[in-house]
Amino acid sequence: MKAKPKIYLIDVTNRDGVQTSRICLSKLEKTMINLYLNEMGVFQSEFGFPVTRHEKEYLNANLELVEKGVLSPIRLEGWIRATRDDVRTAFKAVPKIKHLNLSISTSDQMIIHKFKGKLDHASVIKEMTEALKEAKEKGAESIGVNAEDASRTRMEYLIEFATAAKNSGADRIRYCDTLGCDTPFTIYERIKLLAEAVKMPVEIHCHNDLGLVVANSIAGAKAANDAGCDAYINTCINGMGERAGNADLISAILAIKYGHGMQEYQLDERVNLKLSWKISKYASYAFGVPIPINQPGVGANAFAHESGIHADGALKDRRNYELYDYEELGRGEPEIVETGRKITAGEYSGIKGFRNVYERIEVAFKDDEEATKILELVRYANVHNQKPLVDDELKFIAQHPDIAKKIFTMSP
Ligand SMILES: [Zn+2]
Repeated sequence: MKAKPKIYLIDVTNRDGVQTSRICLSKLEKTMINLYLNEMGVFQSEFGFPVTRHEKEYLNANLELVEKGVLSPIRLEGWIRATRDDVRTAFKAVPKIKHLNLSISTSDQMIIHKFKGKLDHASVIKEMTEALKEAKEKGAESIGVNAEDASRTRMEYLIEFATAAKNSGADRIRYCDTLGCDTPFTIYERIKLLAEAVKMPVEIHCHNDLGLVVANSIAGAKAANDAGCDAYINTCINGMGERAGNADLISAILAIKYGHGMQEYQLDERVNLKLSWKISKYASYAFGVPIPINQPGVGANAFAHESGIHADGALKDRRNYELYDYEELGRGEPEIVETGRKITAGEYSGIKGFRNVYERIEVAFKDDEEATKILELVRYANVHNQKPLVDDELKFIAQHPDIAKKIFTMSP
């Protein structure tokens, strides 16, 4: 008997998140996000753009972390357009890339008004299958094919497109609600039809233009599972992503775990909410975007009670007014903020202050030579991030100096 289908998470913070207007991450910050996602049990990180030249060193360095077993078991997957040119460029720049998503538009709107006669419905499928075959030949181990604007694509054509992808060796089809126009009702129906017809794992990539992003994501996952197929929800930390954002990572997990009617669906058992507080705070700091006070799970008010009846009820029994426990999300520990003297490590630090910083985080160097080498990297890391480094970044640089060096390297 075939195993029960599951719901997995593919986080796209390092792709959709960073391509968002006005916000960005440094390559070190992207690396930290990959490390945290791995620790959180997320199945896959869409870690960047293999055809974008300034991503090259970062992508290769992160694949080295995979080889070293540091970024394991998470899969790192690159996003490219579904063209043979992009596939070739990707493998040239990042030869060890093993996982890819190939993207092309499938709606009449985009085929007619974006491709403007360059491609029609038949040639969209041809481009995609040729790119897919080329990626397989070049050594890709898993490939997702993205139907951009799937929610506005004629169902019949979407099924034809996905079937062609499957027959050419695609492992997943990504249903993109690119404009965020689906509702839980429509996405459920459409993904059920798609999965029943094509019988392949479905990725659900939703946007929040109508405020429905998590609802749509779990409705889509439910539809794929109901059709007997695995589902892969695309998420972003703190709901970052183009325009109104993608599905918030933590909200999506909470909705699957605690939403009524979702208990019979199996979330990837490796997913661990314990890191929620840490990953959310880190992403907020790295993006420079505050966590809203009312953010599910990690907002300042997520477990705060003030009104008489609520406060009294929560004190009597947390289940009166709390759906899940703050401890599960890694909250509850007091955070210590230094209010006296503090030495920080920056672009212009010297060795004495630098040693003090590392002693505080309990990292020792074997000799002066090693300390000087790490200091130099920490200076560069500060130039690179343009904000004070967090302890985990300082530790990462000390643990993996050679990889850190590659991550900061960029030459146009
Ligand atoms: Zn998107």
